[in-house]
Amino acid sequence: MAQMDRADGHRYFEGLAVAHVLGGLDDSEGRVFRAHLLDCADCRARVGELRAIAHDLADVERDEHRVRAAQVIETKRRESDDADDDLEEAPPATRVSRFTVLGGLLFLVGLSLWNFTLHGEMTQLETDNRNLVRAGVVRETGTSWRSAITDASVQGVVKDDGTDFVVSVDGLDPEQRYGLYVKDESGTTAYRFYFGPSEEGRLYRLFALPDDADRLLISDPEDTGDSPAVPGSEPSGDTVFEASRP
Ligand SMILES: [Zn+2]
Repeated sequence: MAQMDRADGHRYFEGLAVAHVLGGLDDSEGRVFRAHLLDCADCRARVGELRAIAHDLADVERDEHRVRAAQVIETKRRESDDADDDLEEAPPATRVSRFTVLGGLLFLVGLSLWNFTLHGEMTQLETDNRNLVRAGVVRETGTSWRSAITDASVQGVVKDDGTDFVVSVDGLDPEQRYGLYVKDESGTTAYRFYFGPSEEGRLYRLFALPDDADRLLISDPEDTGDSPAVPGSEPSGDTVFEASRP
């Protein structure tokens, strides 16, 4: 969760990076962004890349100026040499060059926005990947909960390492919605999670372990008139899987 909040908050700075390079930030935004740059290596790298592209574009523009200036001199010389000569006029060249620079800037902005989108997606993928790796570690090394299988077709394992717990359950109905409940010793629901299993009828997921977690149950909720039936804040209907913490 904290990871996702960070990504959302960071998007604001990513948006400022382009404006910063193009000199479009006002004083207060500029100060905020420069302060952020001091402790964000990602944004420093990004600003460096954008500066390099902007610098290349400026070089292209300077070269075009030089060519145009040479053309003007050449045109003047020829005009004085031969007034009847049919020469290309300078204005079209100016227009073309302005479009080139504008196109370059639009390309720069588009490229960086696309980069930021990719960057955001990568951050999410990295988070998902870390969670999967962590789930694998807890699955390998964690303490097993005693499972009481109440539905013959459903099999599962719950393990925790004191910080997180991983639930791996097979044989669920992919069409069905289920409620997962963690109860504490007093029987109060400490955590709940509603889910639809994967196409293979599986739930494999890492959760933060509530402090006084004692028992986990997965229920196939009572028919509520919705299709499929929606799980409620407390278990209802059939308990299809149950495990207790040793
Ligand atoms: Zn940053």
